[in-house]
Amino acid sequence: MAGITFGDMYFVHPTHSSEGIHFHELVHVVQWSTLGVNEFLLTYALGIAQHGYEQSPLEAIAFDLQGRFEQHAALDGVVDRVARHAVATRDVASAVFRLHGLKIVQPGTSVTELTGNMGNTQLSFYQRFSFINPSQ
Ligand SMILES: [Zn+2]
Repeated sequence: MAGITFGDMYFVHPTHSSEGIHFHELVHVVQWSTLGVNEFLLTYALGIAQHGYEQSPLEAIAFDLQGRFEQHAALDGVVDRVARHAVATRDVASAVFRLHGLKIVQPGTSVTELTGNMGNTQLSFYQRFSFINPSQ
């Protein structure tokens, strides 16, 4: 990993710096901007857990587009493409959470409104994060 992105700020390791790496991190900036902090982090974490780092969906598209950028391929509509992919990936992640009985709630929702069989650790984790409702 040559760089890391937090919202609209990213860091690139100086010995691994290239225009392609900067492009890769800018893909993540679009993902953060599209999903927001909570949805990005939950979607990203699930992708890593399910597929590993490079094959996780939010990384795979960044690596794919980085490769195209480095080959000087046409990247028309890339921001829109990244945004649509991020939303679709988030919807899949949300469905996975729901499949496992985790009802992801908006901050401030009372504990008694939660469903599923969550332990205290998971419960406190998910209480801190909101997540999307796929029916929206
Ligand atoms: Zn990345």
